[in-house]
Amino acid sequence: MSTLLRQLPQVDALLGSSGMTSLLKAYSRQEVADTLRAALHTLRGELKAGRVNQLPDFESAAFAQSLAEKIESERQPNLRPAINATGIIIHTNLGRARLAPEALAAMQAVGADHSNLELDLDTGRRGSRHAHVERLICELTGAEAALVVNNCAAAVLLSLMATAHGRKVVASRGELIEIGGAFRLPDVIQQSGAILKEVGATNKTRAKDYAEAIDPDTAVLLKSHTSNYQIVGFTHAPGREELAALAHATGTILMEDLGSGVLVDLSPYGLLNEPVVSDVLASGVDIVMFSGDKLLGGPQCGIIAGRAELIRGLKTHPLSRAVRIDKLSLAALEATLRLYRAPHDPFSSVPVLRAISQSIEDVRARAERLAAALIASGFEDVSSLPSEAFAGGGSLPQQHLKSHAVSIGVSSFTPDALAAALRKARTPVIGMIRDDRFLMDVRTVTDGEVTGIADAFRGLRSP
Ligand SMILES: *Cc1c(COP(=O)(O)O)cnc(C)c1O
Repeated sequence: MSTLLRQLPQVDALLGSSGMTSLLKAYSRQEVADTLRAALHTLRGELKAGRVNQLPDFESAAFAQSLAEKIESERQPNLRPAINATGIIIHTNLGRARLAPEALAAMQAVGADHSNLELDLDTGRRGSRHAHVERLICELTGAEAALVVNNCAAAVLLSLMATAHGRKVVASRGELIEIGGAFRLPDVIQQSGAILKEVGATNKTRAKDYAEAIDPDTAVLLKSHTSNYQIVGFTHAPGREELAALAHATGTILMEDLGSGVLVDLSPYGLLNEPVVSDVLASGVDIVMFSGDKLLGGPQCGIIAGRAELIRGLKTHPLSRAVRIDKLSLAALEATLRLYRAPHDPFSSVPVLRAISQSIEDVRARAERLAAALIASGFEDVSSLPSEAFAGGGSLPQQHLKSHAVSIGVSSFTPDALAAALRKARTPVIGMIRDDRFLMDVRTVTDGEVTGIADAFRGLRSP
């Protein structure tokens, strides 16, 4: 081993060798040197550990090729497109909502050039960035006023801080949610400087419970969408109308964290019980908060909509500057919201809604095309079968959409090894493992991505 270690060449010596000539033509000296250094470092470690007992031919085309592959992979952006074959339409780990081409074009236009972000073109004076979307949001939700911040968590924090700092917030014990890691409603209430007053029981809370908790120090009655869980069996929660009447009789504010927040009714597609923002506001809720990149299908942002006097207080609160939306998201949001009005049909132009509403026949046909492409690429153990897709993003956890998937086995790969290898593909393919088989649900895959999946499979190397 020590002999081999001593025979390991120096980076500089290798750079001057004939084996590196073609690499140095294709790549910068810095990239080749860095990659060589890393390769020699790895090799030294392997030799010391006894996992390798001979040196590669440093002059060979194979060695140069292995370095070229490393350089190519190093050149790829860390954050890059992936193919979502999980059947979960709004997958937080995979970037939530895909954006519509109109939204991408708006980001491109506003990103490449200067814009009237905060310039009122009528007066030539400083304008508000909120003006670009406020009227659209009001039109689509029936709200009097609206404000957009960088995500829904920020929307909840700002709303509570501006309306209930140092005062009480009444919330049901059945709705003290935790969403994806760090967003816990009791903690957010505490961070806002408000005091949480829990009422009711885990499964049942009545309007009387809220009423008994209200005192002169109470500022807000807070409802929240139990996005990622459901309490079933003997349950009760008061209706919004009932709570609104109570709030208005007691001078408190009824606020609702809707989480996903849909602008259109999804029940025709089998997703029941997801409250439509305009219905929630029409039932008397004073302000609502919801995400831009969940079921709405836009960029990451948090939308706050409701009564004008409350929204005014939020806009002028010092925290609003710290959580403000950036111009690219704002451009994408405006373009996405416009897809909800004539002449567009959001179910065909907003990708999230298209994925939800596409017919099972279309989904099955795509699964069959994918299976055929894989068979044509030389894979044999391929079949297409019915499966279940989900809206995801913490919304509607119990309700599935009929879907179709492709199941595939590749000899010499366990399902886990196959999943790992596909994650390493140039365009990663993210599927799932069910009953010890690798499965790809295609409700979340576009026709264009079918080719990308076949490419990833053709590029597989034995583990
Ligand atoms: C997702 C969600 C949030 C957080 O939204 P982000 O946009 O991720 O900040 C807050 N409340 C509820 C009920 C949610 O479902």
